[in-house]
Amino acid sequence: MKKAAEKIDRRKFLKIMAGTSAYAALGPVRPAGAQPYRFGKLADTTRCIGCKRCMSACKRWNKLKVERDELVSDRETHLSAQNWVVVNFRADTMNRTRRTYQHWACQHCIQPACAGACPVKAITKLPHGYVVVNEKKCIGCRYCYQSCPFKVPQFDFEKRVTRKCTLCFDRILINYSKPACVAACPAGALSFGYKHEMILEAKKRLYKVKSAKHILGLKEAGGTDMLTILTAKPEDLGLVVAPPKVVNQNLDKLRITAAGFMSASALAGMMYLYRTLTGNNSR
Ligand code: SF4
Ligand code: SF4
Ligand code: SF4
Repeated sequence: MKKAAEKIDRRKFLKIMAGTSAYAALGPVRPAGAQPYRFGKLADTTRCIGCKRCMSACKRWNKLKVERDELVSDRETHLSAQNWVVVNFRADTMNRTRRTYQHWACQHCIQPACAGACPVKAITKLPHGYVVVNEKKCIGCRYCYQSCPFKVPQFDFEKRVTRKCTLCFDRILINYSKPACVAACPAGALSFGYKHEMILEAKKRLYKVKSAKHILGLKEAGGTDMLTILTAKPEDLGLVVAPPKVVNQNLDKLRITAAGFMSASALAGMMYLYRTLTGNNSR
């Protein structure tokens, strides 16, 4: 039997899931802001002890490869196709004595630029907040990486697809369990629950904890379903600074469509020239 601490409230969860199924959750969705029961993850860097258990739990659950020494505390790690969450030691550039461990993964944006840029709709924002990549649809074009304000999606050179944190949507849909990283954290640095509760909790800690200075995800990139309590501004901690608004999500698609249109026109032009020069006008 699962430990109670690993699960969200079962009754509440079943209530939310009534009338919907795992299949329906994977289908087309309404705009994220219109979803009344969105989940969120909260990372509190003032509590993180850098043990990296979140990293190993993520790898275990998602069957990702462990690379040499990467789970040793203080070893610098980078997001990759096999690393969907990383933990790194960061100093505040404004005050070098202030240092914290940063748990970092996909921010599960409310309006994910990655999903907007994907030309084959391989990325979906699910109704409860998760942003997931359908690896069967992915063509490996990397438009998602280019458009992501946090530079999260990573290309898997073996599988030729893009991969990233799924917020463990498969755990919650099947087992109503918390994400693997949250369940594994021994320091209470990670929480998971209804988004509005996570916002309240984050604001409470910002007010109560002296070293807490900023909640990442309330405004960045138009708001994200992962929130992080930081001890300084993101730029002072060397984190990627996302603009407050996401760029036009359809911009890249327009570019792709325009590129496709131009290629088609060029091809038609060449065919016309060939026919004219060879006198081959057969239909
Ligand atoms: S952080 Fe990047 S990959 Fe994650 S949902 Fe936002 S745009 Fe997509
Ligand atoms: S939510 Fe799941 S997939 Fe995402 S970092 Fe945590 S364990 Fe990994
Ligand atoms: S498991 Fe918790 S305390 Fe340990 S590194 Fe991850 S977030 Fe920090």
